[in-house]
Amino acid sequence: MIRYKFIWKNLKGKRFAFILGLVLSAITSVIVIINPYLTKILVDDVIRGNRRDLLVPLLIGMCLIVFVKTCLFMWKVVLMERSSQSMLMSIRKSIFHNLQHQEMSFFDKNRSGDLITRVTGDLEYMRHFVAWVVYVLLETVVTFLAAVVILSCVNVTLTLALMSVLPFIIVGSVIYSRKVRPIYRGLRNRLSDLNVAASENIAGNRVVRAFAREDHEREKFAKVSETYKKENLRASYAWQSIVPVIDFFGQFLTFITLLVGGLLVIREEISIGDLTMFTGLTWALSNPMKQICNLLNDVQRFNASTDKVMEVYYAKPLICDRVGALDTKERLKGKIEFRNVSFRYGDEPVLDHVSFTINPYETVAIIGPTGGGKTTLASLIARFYDPTEGEIFIDNVDIRYRTLSSIHTAVAIATQDVFLFSDTIAGNISFCSPDMEDEQIYECARLACADGFIRKLPEGYDTIVGERGVGLSGGQRQRIALARAIAAIPSILILDDTTSAVDLETEKHMQYNLHNLPFHCTTLIIAQRISSVKNADKIIVLENGRVTVGTHDTLMRKNRYYRDVCTLQDVKDIPEFEGGE
Ligand code: ADP
Ligand code: MG
Repeated sequence: MIRYKFIWKNLKGKRFAFILGLVLSAITSVIVIINPYLTKILVDDVIRGNRRDLLVPLLIGMCLIVFVKTCLFMWKVVLMERSSQSMLMSIRKSIFHNLQHQEMSFFDKNRSGDLITRVTGDLEYMRHFVAWVVYVLLETVVTFLAAVVILSCVNVTLTLALMSVLPFIIVGSVIYSRKVRPIYRGLRNRLSDLNVAASENIAGNRVVRAFAREDHEREKFAKVSETYKKENLRASYAWQSIVPVIDFFGQFLTFITLLVGGLLVIREEISIGDLTMFTGLTWALSNPMKQICNLLNDVQRFNASTDKVMEVYYAKPLICDRVGALDTKERLKGKIEFRNVSFRYGDEPVLDHVSFTINPYETVAIIGPTGGGKTTLASLIARFYDPTEGEIFIDNVDIRYRTLSSIHTAVAIATQDVFLFSDTIAGNISFCSPDMEDEQIYECARLACADGFIRKLPEGYDTIVGERGVGLSGGQRQRIALARAIAAIPSILILDDTTSAVDLETEKHMQYNLHNLPFHCTTLIIAQRISSVKNADKIIVLENGRVTVGTHDTLMRKNRYYRDVCTLQDVKDIPEFEGGE
């Protein structure tokens, strides 16, 4: 029931068209029953009763009925298509909106191939249900009932004889429906696996080739494909096993009509015309019986798909704005404070009671072993995740009491894993404010040391970069990502390993530019190289979930990890170790 309520809700604005479509559907179903009735009059009155004057009006009437039926059918199709497409549009828009507001952990849990299946294949099954299955189901029932009514007006005995097969059909349908329900659920999940496998392989095709893993991937894909095929065959076999049974009962109806009807004609209880009408209407009884299993397949598909769609439609983000959250419009200063912050992904602890303060406009570097939690720490500042314990403050306000949009306006991150859209380079840089002047875009690129290489590209700033920035080197992508972050004119600029793939010369320029940005901001630089961090106002060493804060000089003297990194990177004049962690 909840699924139908969901459909009804999303048909808003097109509900009248949908209901009108169903009414037309019911009318056409009744109309088709009239022609066999006219045939009866043709046989009884015109042929046997010699009323030739009735012939022409009857034939005209029959033609008119076919014409009206065709017109109504076309009108109905237009109405159903329009309302189903509008429903689809409404659901798709809401899902997209909802997906955009989900926190990171939602995307950690849900694979993109699966989400894409929900907004494409699953929605298509829903549309098919609304645009086709519903009215066919209605037509099937109405035709059946209308035929029963008309036939029982002519002869009750023969109608009851025909109805004797009905219990078998009902029991058969219920058994079939129960049998195919899990099959269609499984089929839906296998389709999702197939899409996930395909989308991962397309996105990761370079990695596959680089490691010559084509055969392995092909095998993996073939396996998923094989499972999908098997599941499809299961559904098909289930369907094929019921078809002969239904067909048998369909044929049996003709047999009953001829046997019982023939006997009744012989006993002169019904006329030849009546029998002709019964024969003509047998299809109106057998057709619904044949249709019913086909429709049950569609209903099961619809159920499985709608459940998946509703899951994302109603998925509530855990990280969202509180009632009365502070929606600061003016520019923040960029003070950041961690108070006793702990964080874990599931059971895996990453940060352990971390506390530090970063003052406005400071440049702070974060260094630590890979997997130490640096990216996680940056994600917490942007409230991509909430801490398991402790509080994070921006400008002395707990970020859980600020609106997400105000945090995301204030914080810009050049992420470690650079994602560029398939757009021009200019479009990627001006992502957060598309109406930026060209000059501003060039300035941001200059600050990110990207202007030089961009201008050397054949189409300069108008060069379209491929999906995820294909066609550019790692260092070039990092610099575009930095330009994009600078273009946001943030109060807090976070560079997550943004200089790891650029040469030392360029890095020096970038550092100089970052110190001389044309606006004030607090800068957090996550880096592995001592050269990237040593000039920072403060350096945070993040190791085993704990932090040590200091400057290059103090850390060299007091932090073992920092000293070791300095030694490994051939830093000159390392002083004596004075103890500490
Ligand atoms: P760093 O940036 O310092 O290399 P990260 O913050 O990326 O480290 O990761 C810290 C730890 O958290 C790692 O052990 C990593 O495996 C784990 N981790 C990172 N992201 C996720 C995630 N989305 N889900 C579960 N675990 C994660
Ligand atoms: Mg990282």
